[in-house]
Amino acid sequence: MNQPITVKDKQFILSISNSEIQNSIQKVADEINRDYEGKEIFFIGVLNGVFMYAADLLKKITVPCQISFTKVASYEGTHSTGKVKQLIGLPEDIAGRNVVILEDIVDTGFTMKEILRQLEGLHPADIKIATLLFKPNSFKESYKVDYRAMEIPNAFIVGYGLDYDGYGRNLPDIYTVVN
Ligand code: 5GP
Repeated sequence: MNQPITVKDKQFILSISNSEIQNSIQKVADEINRDYEGKEIFFIGVLNGVFMYAADLLKKITVPCQISFTKVASYEGTHSTGKVKQLIGLPEDIAGRNVVILEDIVDTGFTMKEILRQLEGLHPADIKIATLLFKPNSFKESYKVDYRAMEIPNAFIVGYGLDYDGYGRNLPDIYTVVN
């Protein structure tokens, strides 16, 4: 039985080991390498949580590719729509490129919907999504999440780049909160 670990003020238990993570990333890389054979990919990583996944996935990509990073800034909107999400540090020129968005986790899907909307405005040839983690029971949108390395239940996780209040990103494995 694995002992819980403490991150800041909460307890978490091991749920996905680094070797399982690497195996599922390899499967996604194989799919991407097959789908983009003869083409080039422009990856856009969504910071901060994506840094470990982006580094490990890119080492497994064999087609010609480039990568750039963006960040989603959330702030309270002036209208009743609540939080506004805006992309900062957008890549310069993605017009006509085959873009693959790299995200650590797609939960309700709202954040990715906004990212897609803003990137589509830059007229790439094509946009696909490659998320490390996907919560199918939480997803509320209708767009396609093309590549999903792992599907997980609706519980809060940390590790492998994902944080709890800024902590836990350094953990090589993924842990689930103990309620
Ligand atoms: P969405 O807009 O899809 O509901 O949420 C996406 C964002 O919420 C992710 O980019 C991530 O920052 C955060 N998030 C969602 N679920 C989790 C989780 O289980 N753990 C952590 N650390 N962040 C999460």
